[in-house]
Amino acid sequence: MALRILLDNGHGRETPGKRSPVWADGAQLLEWEFNRDIVRRIARQLAHRGISFDILVPEHDDAPLAQRARRANHICETRGAANCLLVSVHANAGGGTGWEVYTSPGRTAADDYADIFFKHAALAFPEFRMRTDTSDGDNDKEAGIAILRQTRCPALLTENFFMDNERDCRLLLSEEGRRRIAQMHVDAILECVEFHEKQTR
Ligand SMILES: [Zn+2]
Repeated sequence: MALRILLDNGHGRETPGKRSPVWADGAQLLEWEFNRDIVRRIARQLAHRGISFDILVPEHDDAPLAQRARRANHICETRGAANCLLVSVHANAGGGTGWEVYTSPGRTAADDYADIFFKHAALAFPEFRMRTDTSDGDNDKEAGIAILRQTRCPALLTENFFMDNERDCRLLLSEEGRRRIAQMHVDAILECVEFHEKQTR
């Protein structure tokens, strides 16, 4: 069975915080809008290429985590968890710069997919820093992020640059930056689909 992509766009328009500072020219990034826009761009390309996917949060409001996990696990039940990959799209904050990917703790199938994502991010954004934690030999930073723990399928979460860093944030606000971030995800997903096909052949 072909790999199905579960696209998770985090946060809702009512979620407090989760926004950039207001820059000198008045520009501000709202993370819920950014996450949804990137997921929409990814979805459009996946549809075009015949890759099956679901958007876990089609609404503009935030779906509680338990509900998102339930939606994902429902799809896992019918497709088989090993035939699904959850990709949660976010923008980072907290003082830093660059791109990183998280997977559920421990060595899981998500690590192979995360390596593929990391490779494509590094290729797509040579002018930005790739943030790594290589303590366990992988490029992904492991964290107990709930969506990654509560879903039965391999799950990864991309933190696409820092919205509280102006250089990063300008990329996230720009059409060009969003196009590149979405394209990087699509390129990585296509390789993940191939990888899964080889594993299950
Ligand atoms: Zn977020």
